[in-house]
Amino acid sequence: MQTQDVVVIGAGLAGLRCAAELAARGREVVVLEAADRVGGRQRTDRVDGFTLDRGFHVLNTAYPAVRSAVDVGALDVAAFPTAVRVRRTDGSMATLAHPLRHPQLLPATLAGGLVTPRDVVGLARWLGPIVLRPRTAVARPDRTIGEGWDAAGLTGALRTQVLSPFFSGVLADSSETTSDTYVRLLARSFLPAAAGLPRAGIAALPVALASRARAAGADIRLDRRVSRLRRRDGRWEVDALGETTLLARDVVVAVGAEAVEGLVDVPGPSTRGLQTWWFSAEETPASTLLTLDGSRGGPIVNALAISATIPEAAPHGRHLVQATCLWSPGQVASESDVRAQLVRLYGQDSASWRLLRRDDIPHALPALPPPMRRSSPARIGPGLHLAGDHRESPSIQGALQSGLRAARSVLGEPLPARSSTR
Ligand SMILES: Cc1cc2nc3c(=O)[nH]c(=O)nc-3n(C[C@H](O)[C@H](O)[C@H](O)COP(=O)(O)OP(=O)(O)OC[C@H]3O[C@@H](n4cnc5c(N)ncnc54)[C@H](O)[C@@H]3O)c2cc1C
Repeated sequence: MQTQDVVVIGAGLAGLRCAAELAARGREVVVLEAADRVGGRQRTDRVDGFTLDRGFHVLNTAYPAVRSAVDVGALDVAAFPTAVRVRRTDGSMATLAHPLRHPQLLPATLAGGLVTPRDVVGLARWLGPIVLRPRTAVARPDRTIGEGWDAAGLTGALRTQVLSPFFSGVLADSSETTSDTYVRLLARSFLPAAAGLPRAGIAALPVALASRARAAGADIRLDRRVSRLRRRDGRWEVDALGETTLLARDVVVAVGAEAVEGLVDVPGPSTRGLQTWWFSAEETPASTLLTLDGSRGGPIVNALAISATIPEAAPHGRHLVQATCLWSPGQVASESDVRAQLVRLYGQDSASWRLLRRDDIPHALPALPPPMRRSSPARIGPGLHLAGDHRESPSIQGALQSGLRAARSVLGEPLPARSSTR
């Protein structure tokens, strides 16, 4: 039986990044993926002429790992406005916009009353050190994001009605218990670039990465769920559905956090869930901006008319709107609660929006409580390496960086440990 140089398990961003690197460095690589397509958590479907990602994703093109993994220009990314619309606790709507990118929204931002001088000082205290002296700021003892905001004196409406609801959606965590260091690094990564989406949907990223891996010689096999790994005579035996047993010198396990324990003897970290509701609207939605509910008047943490930025995501004359809630076992939002909140956020027109699909994603993101660890080592045994966002940080940057780290581990050129999202 032929022995492969490397078998990579999982064709999400981490597995694909790893395979592309190893194949480019001349290694024989087979990727075994359980699903019928590449991309893992990054999937895009066409439904009734709409482009629906599985859950609401955003691509930050400033992520260094994205820029080094694919040709960002070829992804055809449309940038969302760098502004949010917030439902305040008194029920009024306010706008908060990046003053340099949307100077025309400055009067609305000032009139919204969401930013007091005290909050500006608090924001500068919270974000300033990570922007100006990142190494020192990262080396400081970590705490929860809630404690970080308290310590910075960020206690007003900017925190409670904007930052907290915003990061709830990004981290799938409304408890303000995620690592403060990580969230500050994340916030810093958004300063140089606007976030957006490929016009063809988020799956354009893994598809581009898979093409790169295949072009370098990687053999990506779909519908191949790996059921067992065994070490014998200094090699790995890999059993997968639909495959005869494969032999490999090295194996990279690049599955999501929830699937780790089924394959290797490493505890999988806990995960957080998200739920996205996709609607078709006939009337233009009341706003094109990311809408947050600062009043926490229902399960939705953010909503966005995607087709306002990407018209081709909806058929002509229709609009595509997403509404995202947190998901946790036994606490799933009901359609009536979501619709009632949409009426408060977008007005009575939204009552007629047609539900296209609901995505429940129990293991959307690995939890990242303090202290933020340095990157976990990729090598976990002889010829055995572990990759995935749960080894770095719960993001595209983290997944790609962990895939690269695993490839370097296979090549015997380990990357120095450092904090991800940078
Ligand atoms: C709804 C949602 C929104 C998000 N939004 C953002 C965002 O805006 N910005 C951002 O930076 N990040 C975002 N993320 C996070 C980002 O998508 C992930 O961090 C990243 O895609 C994880 O990639 P991965 O390769 O580590 O894992 P995965 O994508 O989970 O890939 C693991 C792969 O392993 C396969 N697999 C599992 N078990 C087996 C087995 N036994 N045999 C073979 N294959 C197996 C799976 O099918 C899967 O394809 C979001 C995630 C979700 C779910």
